[in-house]
Amino acid sequence: MKTENIYIIGHKSPDTDSVCSSIAYAEYMREKKINAIPVICEELNPETEYVLSYFGVDAPLKLDSIKGKKVILVDHNETIQSPEGIEEAEVIEVVDHHKIGCQFSSPIAFQTKPFGSTATIIAQKMFNENFKITKKLAGLLLSAILSDTVIFKSSTATKEDIEIAEKLSKIAEIKDIKNFGIEIKKKKSNLKGMTAEKIIYSDFKTFEENSKKFGIGQIEIVDLKEAMEQKEDLLKAIEKIVNEEKFSFLILMITDIINEGSELLICGEKDYLEKAFNVKIEENSIYLKNMMSRKKDLLPLIIKEINKS
Ligand code: MG
Ligand code: MG
Ligand code: MG
Repeated sequence: MKTENIYIIGHKSPDTDSVCSSIAYAEYMREKKINAIPVICEELNPETEYVLSYFGVDAPLKLDSIKGKKVILVDHNETIQSPEGIEEAEVIEVVDHHKIGCQFSSPIAFQTKPFGSTATIIAQKMFNENFKITKKLAGLLLSAILSDTVIFKSSTATKEDIEIAEKLSKIAEIKDIKNFGIEIKKKKSNLKGMTAEKIIYSDFKTFEENSKKFGIGQIEIVDLKEAMEQKEDLLKAIEKIVNEEKFSFLILMITDIINEGSELLICGEKDYLEKAFNVKIEENSIYLKNMMSRKKDLLPLIIKEINKS
């Protein structure tokens, strides 16, 4: 019996976790005789491109819209972050590790765990069910964990992420996990030749809380000084996006993965943020030590402050 295609897709501005989790979950579903197809909605970033070519895996098919399709969402659940056409797609399942911010009109399968990556949830499921993880797949899942947890330095990293990454590294034959992690992260931290807009949108998420729409972009880099040379250009581009997209504010998190902190570049309404961080924001930027994760370190502070008013 031929079954209907099910498309597995991550969030807009796809990252390594979204892409590798889609590929892995599709493989898992196909084992169960379900026609699952991993797809992406926008171009791959250089980090993900590197990971796929390192393990010899083809990039997923790119779909401009998921309108009318049966889909499984991975690595996000807020439909504001979903690909075009989500309003007219049929979501049948979600596999994610972010805060829950969705509503669907019919019952769906919902798998969520507070792990450092979606890949950890999928790999754990595979190990528990004795699913045979190939070397390639182990490599992709490992890369996604290392990418999302910033090589376990992020506050989002859990003991499960570390344990599962170690098991995967044996299958993938990656001997030095940390070194491999740095190799991966370096691919995305090279800002040379990128326009300010491209930098901001390279890993960008839109949120809506208490009728306030705002955006947070993040780049993870190894040389903060080099990135800050582009501060003026970045601020100009941020300002432009705030006006065009009618955001309350937009933050670009420039995360220094070596020194473990982030410089935040900010345009738009600043009072929530000043209250949230309990500091005065001068010249549209602020450095916060130990601020590594958008979803765990930054977003909760902002959401709490927005909901106070
Ligand atoms: Mg992601
Ligand atoms: Mg993720
Ligand atoms: Mg991320």
